[in-house]
Amino acid sequence: MDGTVLVEGSNTKVAFLVYNIISNMAKELDEKLEKMSDKERELWALRHSAEHILHTAMQNLYPKLKKAMGPATPDGFYHDFDLDQKITEEDFPKIEKEMKRLIDADLPIVQEYITPEKAREIFKNNTYKLEWIDEIKKRDEKVSIYKLGKEDLDLCSGPHVASTGKVKAFKLLSIAGAYWHGDEKNKMLNRIYGTAFPTQKELDDYLNQTKEAKKRDHRKLGKELDLFTFSNLVGAGLPLYTPKGALLRRLVNGHVESIQSKQGYSQVWTPQIAKAELFKTSGHYDKYKDSMFKVISNYSDEEFFLKPMNCPQHTQIYASKPRSYKDLPIRLTDFAMLYRDEKPGELSGLARVRSFSQDDCHIFCTEEQVDNEVDKALAMTKEIMAVYGFKYKYRLSTRDLNHPEKYIGDPKTWERIEKWAEKIMIRNKIGHFDGPGEATFYAPKMDLIAQDSLGREWQLSTVQIDFFLPERFKLTYIDKDGKEKRPVMIHRAIIGSPERFLMILIEHFSGNFPTWLTPVQVKVLPITDRNLDYAKTIASKLERENIRVEVDDRNETLQAKIRDAQLEKVAYMLIVGDREEKEGTVSKRGRSGKDYGAQPIDKFTENIKEEIDKKIIN
Ligand SMILES: [Zn+2]
Ligand SMILES: [Zn+2]
Repeated sequence: MDGTVLVEGSNTKVAFLVYNIISNMAKELDEKLEKMSDKERELWALRHSAEHILHTAMQNLYPKLKKAMGPATPDGFYHDFDLDQKITEEDFPKIEKEMKRLIDADLPIVQEYITPEKAREIFKNNTYKLEWIDEIKKRDEKVSIYKLGKEDLDLCSGPHVASTGKVKAFKLLSIAGAYWHGDEKNKMLNRIYGTAFPTQKELDDYLNQTKEAKKRDHRKLGKELDLFTFSNLVGAGLPLYTPKGALLRRLVNGHVESIQSKQGYSQVWTPQIAKAELFKTSGHYDKYKDSMFKVISNYSDEEFFLKPMNCPQHTQIYASKPRSYKDLPIRLTDFAMLYRDEKPGELSGLARVRSFSQDDCHIFCTEEQVDNEVDKALAMTKEIMAVYGFKYKYRLSTRDLNHPEKYIGDPKTWERIEKWAEKIMIRNKIGHFDGPGEATFYAPKMDLIAQDSLGREWQLSTVQIDFFLPERFKLTYIDKDGKEKRPVMIHRAIIGSPERFLMILIEHFSGNFPTWLTPVQVKVLPITDRNLDYAKTIASKLERENIRVEVDDRNETLQAKIRDAQLEKVAYMLIVGDREEKEGTVSKRGRSGKDYGAQPIDKFTENIKEEIDKKIIN
C-alpha cells in the first residue's frame, strides 16, 4: 500500500500551495489555482494581498530595503527582505500599524502588463527582481505587475483581492533567516511570516489552535512522557521506542489485529530487503527509486533495496502456489518495518521518518468479491476510528488527467475503477470529496481524512482497488469454468502507519490517552512510609487484574507525588493513608485533579476494568 504516509500535516487540501512565486512563470501555480475551490482561491488571494501589504509597509518603514520574494502558504504568507538593519519581532507592532494604515486607506490593487524593458528600468536597483525579469524575458512573456494604490508596485502574477480594505484580519507571526534560492552561498535574507483570514474570529481561532498545538507538540510530549527518542548514532528519522512508547505501538497494532483476525485476515511476515527486480516488476523502482535505501551485498552483485512497502512481497506469497476460486479471498496483513530515504531537512519527529510500519493488508479476490471486501474494510475502519473519537471524511483520490504518464495500466480500466469506488462510497453512505491527482500510480484510492481534537486534518486509512499489480506479477487463479483468471488486489490500511498514528494520538489527546492506552494506568501514592505495605497490597491486587500499576515509594510529600503523577499523565492516582488503610479503601483522583473521594478497592477495580474493556475516552 502506498500513499498514506507521505502526506503530512494539517490543511491537506491547501498543502500544495507552497510554490515558487516567479512572477508570470508560475504556470504550475495556475494549474494549482485551477484545482482549488472558489473558497480556497479567495483565501489564497486574500493572503497574497496581505503579503503585498506587508512588503509595502516594510518599504515605507525601511526605504533602503530590497524586496526579494514572498508567496501565500498553506498557513498564511511570508516575504523575504534584503535589509542591512536588524529587525526582530519587537518591530512587529510598528509594522502591523503601518499595514493597518494601508488597509484603512482601502487602496485599489490593480494589475498591469508591461514590457520586460520597462520592468528592468523600474527595478534597476533590485537584483532579485532583475533575475525574475530575465527569466520572464527568456520565455518571451509579458511582465505582470500589481500596483497597490500609488504606494507600491511589484512583479506578480496575482490573483489578489480588489483593494487593501478587503483584508480584515491579519497578524505577523515570526521572523527567520532565509537564503535566496535556499542556497547558503547567497546572502541571508529576513523572512517575515504572517497570516490572514476573512474574519477576526477565524484568525483568533487559528491563533488559539497554534498555541494549543505548540503545547501538545508530540516531540515535546513524547520526551516528557518518555515514549520515544532519537540518537545521532542511530541516525536522523530513525525513532527508538522506549518501553512506554513500544507498549503504545503494541496496543494500537494489537487492537487493529484483534479486529482483523475476526474478519479472516491472516498475518504474514516478510523480509526487510528485496531484490531490485521485485520493485522493477511492480513499478516501484521507476517511481520511488530515489526514496529507496540501497543495500549492498559483500558476496554478489545483486542489487537490493530496503523495502518501502509490502505490496510486491505479498504478491509473491500469493504466487507461491496454484490458487483456485475456492481459496479466494486471501487476506494478508503485515506489520513489518518499512524504510524510505527522506530528505534529511524534511525529517520531523514522528511526522516524517525514515523507518516506520503500516497496518497493511492485501486482499486477493475475484472481481465479484470486491464490493463485499471493500464494504468490510470500510466498516472495520469506522469501528476503529470511533474508538479514538476521530471525525472524518473520505477523499476519492483519482488520476491527474493532465499527466497520464504518471500511471500504469490502461485509462479505460482506470475510469471503470474510479467510478466503481465512487459507487461504493455512495452505497456505504460515506460523505466524500474529490481528490483529482491524488491516486497512486497503480490505483485510485478511497482515503480517510481524520480530524483531530484541534480540527487539524490527517490522512489515515486508505482502500485501493488494484487491477494492475496482479497483471504485472501475472497472478492467476483457476475459476469455476477451469479457466485461468487474474485476481483483483485490494490494498488497505486502517490507521496507516502506527508510528505516525502515535504522533497524531499524542497531539489529539494531548498526552491524556484513554485508560486502555495509558502506559501507567494507576499510580498508588502512600501518604507516609507507614502506608507503604498497604500501597503494595493494592498494587498487587490491580496487577492480578492486568492493570498497569506503579507505587510511588519515594520519600516525597504527597503534593510532590501528585504533581509528578499528573505530569506523567497516569490515568488514576490512588492515595492511601491511615484512614484508607483502616477502612480498606483508596482515595481516587483523576489526572486532571478531579477528586472522586474514597472507595473500596474492588469498586475501583471494577470501574477501571470496564473503562479499559470498552476503550472509553475519559
Ligand atoms: Zn499495497
Ligand atoms: Zn504578489
